[in-house]
Amino acid sequence: MQKKLLSLLVCAGLSSMAHATVTDKMIENDAASTGDVLSWGIGQQGQRYSPLKQINPSSINKLVPVWSFSFGGEKQRGQESQPVIHNGKMFVTASYSRIFALDAKTGAKLWKYEHRLPDGIMPCCDVINRGAALYDNLVIFATLDAQLVALNQDTGDVVWKEKIDDYAAGYSASAAPLIAEGLLLTGVSGGEFGIVGRVEARDPKTGKMVWSRPTVEGHMGYKYDKDGNKTENGISGEQGKTWPGDLWKTGGAATWLGGTYNGKTGLAYFGTGNPAPWNSHLRKGDNLFSTSTVAIDVKTGQIKWHYQSTPNDAWDYDGVNEFITYDEGGQILGGKADRNGFFYVNDAKTGKLVNAFPFVKKITWATGIDLKTGRPNFVPENRSGDPTQGADGKKGTSVFAAPSFLGGKNQMPMAYSPDTKLFYVPANEWGMEIWNEPVSYKKGAAYLGAGFTIKTLSDGPIGAMRAIDPKTGKIVWEAPNNAPLWGGVLTTGGNLVFWGTPEGYLQAADAKTGKIVWKFQTGSGVVAPPITWSDKGEQYVAVASGWGGAVPLWGGDVAKKVSFLEQGGSVWVFKLAK
Ligand code: CA
Ligand code: CA
Repeated sequence: MQKKLLSLLVCAGLSSMAHATVTDKMIENDAASTGDVLSWGIGQQGQRYSPLKQINPSSINKLVPVWSFSFGGEKQRGQESQPVIHNGKMFVTASYSRIFALDAKTGAKLWKYEHRLPDGIMPCCDVINRGAALYDNLVIFATLDAQLVALNQDTGDVVWKEKIDDYAAGYSASAAPLIAEGLLLTGVSGGEFGIVGRVEARDPKTGKMVWSRPTVEGHMGYKYDKDGNKTENGISGEQGKTWPGDLWKTGGAATWLGGTYNGKTGLAYFGTGNPAPWNSHLRKGDNLFSTSTVAIDVKTGQIKWHYQSTPNDAWDYDGVNEFITYDEGGQILGGKADRNGFFYVNDAKTGKLVNAFPFVKKITWATGIDLKTGRPNFVPENRSGDPTQGADGKKGTSVFAAPSFLGGKNQMPMAYSPDTKLFYVPANEWGMEIWNEPVSYKKGAAYLGAGFTIKTLSDGPIGAMRAIDPKTGKIVWEAPNNAPLWGGVLTTGGNLVFWGTPEGYLQAADAKTGKIVWKFQTGSGVVAPPITWSDKGEQYVAVASGWGGAVPLWGGDVAKKVSFLEQGGSVWVFKLAK
């Protein structure tokens, strides 16, 4: 009897321990497990879909705030973070490389960590962070001075800290790390400074490197043994093939938004940013693997396939947007709403293009995508001119281009519902004047060779939440928004779509009709993706609030239009009133 009791106690102890540490199994199962949110994307595939349905169009009128927490300080800048939830705790990152651990029930602060940032950091697009990864008893996030920090979930103590690269050369990091097959996968930011994009795999428990895979053609990949000795693991692509001269050495293609993973393909999908510099006349060729989706075999660190959306990009159409995989008719497909205004559907195993169609109304750089070759049909006269051909050699012909470089969609992650089989895409309609200028690479200096002004296309709304059928390319419904949308999306088994607006609202619409059924004013602009989870039979919704990001910094005429919006820094949690 006593023995039985002891074994019961041991079992209870073990199961609570198992609950306390985050395992690979739990991460693989994250999309289905509704009691926690362990990864950016609410599951490795990044669908941002939860089967929870307690909150639905009939009950949502009772959705009220439970608590709100202020990130405090004077650091009220853009808050683009997705919180993660585990073991009754919320881990949420904030501007200036800060992270907070909060009691998920009450909002009480458990601990905070403020990363000490040097003066010389060079983030292009506000001092934001997009979220943390959970593994074992660690919470791991990237910092603006291009480091990774792993903290003990319970105490906030630093367990390990590793440098990704030299911030003084323009490297920074703000994406949430991705855990796949027991590895920590991270990218880099800095495409505007001529950095070299790459994906790195580390041991999440120690931070030690396992492999690195450059996303600029010509660079060598490496693998590392347990003692840190590195060996060559093959060049990415073929040196000198799609880049002229030495430009590949500072070729950009930053993997700044992080990645997604599909356990059935074994591939991690990372989007890559612009080739550097922006002036496309300096780098004739496709400039692989810039503005692409790159599918990397997680076990080997090799590029299995790539699909390039904007070859020889001349508009800063960073192709970083998230590649969300889903099952369709026995196939595994992936959808991506590209900054260049087209929505792409690729076979997730092979990369073969299945469908491509516009998801914004005005696109000037191409008339469409050739489904046979996978290449865009360019409009050559809408590429900004070569400055060496200009009258004084200092400025090429300026063109009006749409979308603007801020994109048909930017960093705000979309959602996919397996119930409605629709993607929910936060889209924006805007354009830009863009021209080229001479430029040469200088370490730590902006490496654009271009000038620009963002323009509105009309006096009407810029943003639109669009429900898109990836099979037909049809917009099933849309909900216009006056300011450009900059926050991510959540969809649920309760037939709801949640998203935030720069005007400060977290709102929800009926997933089938687009009818807005609920909204709440958070006190500052929402530029982050919402999450949902359940605890003891109650469904919770949370979102970070705090206006900022690239629009107020780079938005030209659009920034003036939204200059009345106030900054902030907080996280809000909601549930149904009893
Ligand atoms: Ca989960
Ligand atoms: Ca860029």
